[in-house]
Amino acid sequence: MKTSAKVLTLSTREKYQLIDITRSVEEIVSDSKIQEGLCLVHASHATAAIICNENESGLVQDILRKVKEIFPAGAGYQHDRIDDNASAHIASALIGASRSFPVRSGRLVRGTWQNIFLLELDGPRGRRSVDVQIIGE
Ligand code: ZN
Repeated sequence: MKTSAKVLTLSTREKYQLIDITRSVEEIVSDSKIQEGLCLVHASHATAAIICNENESGLVQDILRKVKEIFPAGAGYQHDRIDDNASAHIASALIGASRSFPVRSGRLVRGTWQNIFLLELDGPRGRRSVDVQIIGE
C-alpha cells in the first residue's frame, strides 16, 4: 500500500466564504500515481469545514446564507466570551472538517456537480491549511 500526502495552503477574504479546491485536490491525486484507494480532504481547523457540492454562484450564496441561518452568530453561546466565534466552531463541528472520496483508475471519483470546497466560517484568515492524503495502490 502506498500513501501520498500534501498540504494546500490558502488565505480567505471573507468571514464566510466557499473556496473551490477541486482542481488542486485532483492534481494531488494525479501526482500521487495511486490508482485505487481513498482520498481524504481534511481542514486542520476548528472554524472551517470541507463540503462537496455544485460550484454555481447562486448556490454558493444559498449555502452560505443557510449556514448563517442554521448557525447564527452571537446567539448567547458561552464560548463567545473567549473569542466571539462560537457559531463558527459549532458549524465546523457539525458540518465536519473532512470529506473522503474514492480514487479509481488514478482519478478522484466525484459527481459532475460535486466540487470540493473549503468552507471558511471565521475569516478572513491569512493561512488556512487543507491536508490531502491518499492511501491505496
Ligand atoms: Zn474560538
